[in-house]
Amino acid sequence: MEKQKRARRMRILIVEDDALLAASLGAVLDEAGFVAETSGDGNEAVFLGETESYDAAVLDLGLPGLDGVSVLRHWRENGCHIPVLILTARARWSDKLAGFQAGADDYLVKPFLPEEVVLRLRALLRRDKQRGGDTVLTAGPLEYDTVSQRFRLRGQAVDLTAQEQRILAYLMHRRGATVTRAEIGEHVYSRDLEPDSNSVDVLIGRIRRKIGADLIGTRRGLGFRLTI
Ligand code: CA
Repeated sequence: MEKQKRARRMRILIVEDDALLAASLGAVLDEAGFVAETSGDGNEAVFLGETESYDAAVLDLGLPGLDGVSVLRHWRENGCHIPVLILTARARWSDKLAGFQAGADDYLVKPFLPEEVVLRLRALLRRDKQRGGDTVLTAGPLEYDTVSQRFRLRGQAVDLTAQEQRILAYLMHRRGATVTRAEIGEHVYSRDLEPDSNSVDVLIGRIRRKIGADLIGTRRGLGFRLTI
């Protein structure tokens, strides 16, 4: 008899500054079997989308810090290709168009029933699964599975600490670009901790010892980039 696989609960990021709506959406999604996390600020949402592994996001357009369309643009430009359902009070065609142009997958105009969000998310996740999702990033001999958050080098698992993994994941997401120490610090350390610019170099050194020194290049005075 085939052993039944325990289904992994899908992680959904809810970006909504209306705290009551965010809480009720979170409750409905939890009830529907998802793991829901919420953010009420556009800049924080950019950070979370680029550093955490979500399966999908529900994104409000009117947000403090940075508007939803800009959040989505940042995500798409920085390798975050999860399905995104936009929520908005606005029903204007121009807003809808801007959302889709920035890479939205679906759109819901407020007011809506929370159950409608669940139905739409399920449809988006099904579509994403059918097209294989974007769950594995590849750079030369290096592979990063964004779901399990594990790296493989030439097919062999790489043993990294949580911080090393976050740095390397960030470099993978930004492959081709030079990433500054400050950017790495911002994306790697907990938001409550003050980044220490020396330790970025120390961590990069440790990662190089594990994956090979030539895979991460130093651009003097600029930062680091994947060389492949
Ligand atoms: Ca709002």
